[in-house]
Amino acid sequence: MSAQEKLIKESILQDHATQLLKQRGVKIEDIASIVYDLQKNYVDDLTMEYCIENVKKVIQKREVQNAIITGIEIDIAAETGAFSDVLSDLLMRDEGLYGIDEILVLSIVNVYGSIGLTNFGYVDKLKPGIIGKLNNEKSEQCNTFIDDIVGALAAAAASRIAHSQPTHDNINQNPKPETSYQGKH
Ligand code: MG
Repeated sequence: MSAQEKLIKESILQDHATQLLKQRGVKIEDIASIVYDLQKNYVDDLTMEYCIENVKKVIQKREVQNAIITGIEIDIAAETGAFSDVLSDLLMRDEGLYGIDEILVLSIVNVYGSIGLTNFGYVDKLKPGIIGKLNNEKSEQCNTFIDDIVGALAAAAASRIAHSQPTHDNINQNPKPETSYQGKH
C-alpha cells in the first residue's frame, strides 16, 4: 500500500468513526465538556476549545478509531437482530455482568497510560453528562458500547491534557533548598 493509499484509508476510518458517534447522538462538544470537568481543577485557563481539540486528537489515533467503529457497530447490529437471542438480550439490556464493553475501550484509554485508566474508572462510576444520558436512555437504541466509548474518549483526552502540562518539578525548576525538602526528613 502506498503512503497516499494509507492516508486515504486512515481518513476513511476517521470519517466513519466520527460519523458513527454523530449518528448515535454524541457530539464532540458533549465529550469535551466531560474532559473540561475532569481537568478544570488542574489546568489554569482551561477552555472548551482546548478540550475539543484534544478529543479530536484522540480520535485521530488508529486504535481509537478501531474501537469506536467496532463498538458502535456491535450496538447497531444488536438492534437489527444480527446476533443470537442470547447475545441480543445481553446487549439490549446492557446486562451488568457483560463487561466486554469496558474491555474493548481499554484499547482507547491504554494509549495514554495509567492516568487514562484511572480517569476512565472515575467517569465509568460517576457517568457524567452524555454518558449518564446514554446509560439511562429508555429507547430502542442499544447503548451498551457507546457509553463506554464516550467515557474512554473523555478519559483519554483528559490524560492527553494532563501529560502536556508541566510537571511539578518543571514548575519548581530552582526550588530553594530550605523549602524543597520540607516535611521529608
Ligand atoms: Mg456499557
